[in-house]
Amino acid sequence: MVLSRIPLHWKIIAGLVLGVVWSMFSASYGLAEFTANWINPFGVIFIRLLKLIAIPLVLFSIVTGVASLSDARKLGRMGGRTIGMYLLTTAVAVSIGLLLANLFKPGERLPDSERLKNRIQYELWAQNTGVNIQDGECLSCAPENAALVQALQAEQTETDAAVSAKIEAAQKLKEGGPLQMLVDFVPENIIGAMGNMSQMLQVIVFALLFGLALISIPPATAKPAIDFFASANEAFLKLVEMVMRRAPLFIFALTAGVFSQMAGDDLGALLELFMGLGVYMSTVVVGLIVVLAGIYPLILRGVLGRSFSYKKFFADLAPAQFLAFSSSSSAATLPVTLECVTDNMKVSRSVADFVLPIGATMNMNGTSLYQAVATVFLAQMHGIDLNAGQYALITVTATLASVGSAAIPSAGLVMLVMVLSSIGLNPAWIAILFPVDRILDMSRTVVNVTGDAAVAQMVDHWEKEAES
Ligand code: ASP
Repeated sequence: MVLSRIPLHWKIIAGLVLGVVWSMFSASYGLAEFTANWINPFGVIFIRLLKLIAIPLVLFSIVTGVASLSDARKLGRMGGRTIGMYLLTTAVAVSIGLLLANLFKPGERLPDSERLKNRIQYELWAQNTGVNIQDGECLSCAPENAALVQALQAEQTETDAAVSAKIEAAQKLKEGGPLQMLVDFVPENIIGAMGNMSQMLQVIVFALLFGLALISIPPATAKPAIDFFASANEAFLKLVEMVMRRAPLFIFALTAGVFSQMAGDDLGALLELFMGLGVYMSTVVVGLIVVLAGIYPLILRGVLGRSFSYKKFFADLAPAQFLAFSSSSSAATLPVTLECVTDNMKVSRSVADFVLPIGATMNMNGTSLYQAVATVFLAQMHGIDLNAGQYALITVTATLASVGSAAIPSAGLVMLVMVLSSIGLNPAWIAILFPVDRILDMSRTVVNVTGDAAVAQMVDHWEKEAES
């Protein structure tokens, strides 16, 4: 059949485009309910299958990867380089986000009267919550604004339930003190950790320790366990292949479902919403494109030299990138990223098995860039001048927040609460970004996944160099 000769990534793109086209059609002809009832469930099944595979695959692949290393020193070397590159790319992404947000000034497009109102609302909130306003201005103190202040004081600002739930989730994380993040890395129950997608880091920590234990006991004793993990790993990889064969259809259903949910039965309202936040969204998207198409190739070119091919890199990774876009989850995409990186890019299994699962949970360049842009945007639209100290704090907290974000949809928005709180901004402002977050989530997840694959390729190159 002709169809079977078309490369998978083209079929996936076709599924994605048809999904978007269908959602427009369904919004225009009042078919949102039909799409939700009869098409969306297949997208949900797809994500469930991928999640089902992802966690055990992380466990089996890391244990197999570590157990195949000749000594623990190699693990230390690889670990150092991996974390180093992850932090470096994240810091670069945040800086690009900050730069673009200051260049495009997406938050300053509002009329002055709106910004004044926002600013006074912010000052009232700061007074109520005891937050120190760092730019030292007080517009609510000015006599000419007295009437506006009074009117705004009378207005009850209600935070909607979805937003408060996100703020609460972030607050809970914060309550634990500065080392809580470190404590959260360590599982107390491996079955419990495996039951929760947002605890993937705990599964990784267990797998690393278990793999290390296996290479520390006599080889004859370790062999049956290593064989078991290796064979289970193969079976899970086969499962990925089986699911991916149907990916184009699944991705059609997923995209149709997601976009149709966004649009409902009123395409006009969605477009209006997008126009209102257009400059903000474009700033995020431009930043993501700069990192994706500029920074990664540049670093890869520097590390791999002439053997790096721009076209091949993106063609090799395309299935994972399109899946990341439609699923908004690096964790659900992980099985496919692993396949693309080992089968297409020829990165060795022991490197990919180690670098990618850690990257999926810790390395989120797209998310950190988005958090930087969103923070500056919100400050600008509330007439707040950020100082150098606050910019430095955004860099640190956005890096940490992206490390702490689970690799699932919308996690970056939850962690944005922390970035906002750290520089004295109102976390409830995430409500402003909420309506357009999904589409940005889809886009930043593509960058998150690409960053992991790029680092895997670099670490593989260094490992091969060290061994030759
Ligand atoms: N959805 C993103 C991911 O899985 C995380 C985020 O919300 O930024 O990589």
